[in-house]
Amino acid sequence: MPHPQVDAVATRADAGVDQAVTQLCEYLAIPAISCEAEHADDVRALAAKVAEDLSAIGLHHARVLDLPNALPIVAADWLQAGDDKPTVLIYGHLDLQPVAGEVWRTDPHVGTVVDDRLYARGSADDMGGWVSHMVALAAWLAETGELPCNVRLVIEGEEEIGSPNLERFMDAYPDAFEADAMVLTDCENPSTEVPGLTVSLRGLLEVELTARALSSDVHSGLWGGMVPDVSTALVLLIGRLLDEDGRLKVGRVQVDEARRRSGHDVPLTDDVIREGAHLVDGVQPLPRRERSAAEWMWWQPAMTVVATTLPTRDVKKNALRQEATAVLSVRLAPEQKAEDMMAALRDVLLVDPPGGVEVQVEAKGWAGEGWLYTPKGPAFAAADRAYEKAWGHKLVQVGVGGSIPFVALFGRRFGDLPLILNGVMDPLTTAHGPNESMHLGIFRKAVAANVHLLDELAALGKVGIRA
Ligand SMILES: [Zn+2]
Repeated sequence: MPHPQVDAVATRADAGVDQAVTQLCEYLAIPAISCEAEHADDVRALAAKVAEDLSAIGLHHARVLDLPNALPIVAADWLQAGDDKPTVLIYGHLDLQPVAGEVWRTDPHVGTVVDDRLYARGSADDMGGWVSHMVALAAWLAETGELPCNVRLVIEGEEEIGSPNLERFMDAYPDAFEADAMVLTDCENPSTEVPGLTVSLRGLLEVELTARALSSDVHSGLWGGMVPDVSTALVLLIGRLLDEDGRLKVGRVQVDEARRRSGHDVPLTDDVIREGAHLVDGVQPLPRRERSAAEWMWWQPAMTVVATTLPTRDVKKNALRQEATAVLSVRLAPEQKAEDMMAALRDVLLVDPPGGVEVQVEAKGWAGEGWLYTPKGPAFAAADRAYEKAWGHKLVQVGVGGSIPFVALFGRRFGDLPLILNGVMDPLTTAHGPNESMHLGIFRKAVAANVHLLDELAALGKVGIRA
């Protein structure tokens, strides 16, 4: 049964959206860039300010959690809804990606509204995400003096550097993370009209591919045509891994019917891809060939050549070189094991090498497996009802093409709880890039969805939410 005042709460929350955007801009003005040591004090200053503001809206125990050699986490709670009500943990992060070297149309640390979007570093990733929860919580407390269920809030200060200390915080402050369901807000919606529920991440595997032929460089005028050119061999080897469209053809996986179907529901049109990925005029997105764009981007492996030791224009000489290396960044399908992909790559690369060159294939650098989650049970039906009310659309299952360490960590530690992953980003957000922005219509709908989500989850009860 919905809370008798839920509609009044939603109305109050909606009326608070403009004020919330102003408050959001105050946060965005603090350059809380976690990867730049000179901004560590900004991260701390923002954390202190946020803790104060959470206290001011009526949350309890608003505090800054610290650990040695770590940037802080802000935590707060409200636990007076009763033992029969579930405890919902809301996660977000307050730290920012850097802006150095980027060209922005507006000041990246001044929230600027242009048309329907708020531009600033962190507007959507992830300040708008957790602020949308703050507005909903404030409206509940102001309208009814209470929350419909117990709530904990955790706002991290190191997400943009890969959450290196989050697990230490979980160990040091286990109470701050104790919950029956988790709402993690740092993800994307497939459009401004369709809300997304993130269910997968791709893994990442870095592979070094080396072709070696000579024990010293030799003159190409003397030996060219009679001994192998390793640069060419390297290119031929890379070509073996690709299909006619230039996509990785090794290690493809079978995607289950439910995800295949929801992939086709995601409105990733050519226009969205063209604009979101900054394709130059005349270049088309890769053909879909019976698969959805969603499947290619989230649920199949992909490969990018991210570095080579091929000569550059500045240091070219007419020589056959001893060896050449390429670093291949392989995005793994969510359920794929890194060792299986390595074996599949080796099968193709080590057999019968071009020109008989010596080939080495090694896993080097960063590697992390993906994450695949099956949302089921009453918490997700409840989330669908909340989003239906706020967006007029159920949550559509989406994936993330990259890796988000905190999600994998929550999945590992709390994977038996309902994990509801959403956020306020959309394909035009350009998180981590210049001119990051949040769509204000999404922000407004996120606030409403958060009001209803707490109510719907509360109605399930502490036992029912995990059923
Ligand atoms: Zn983020």
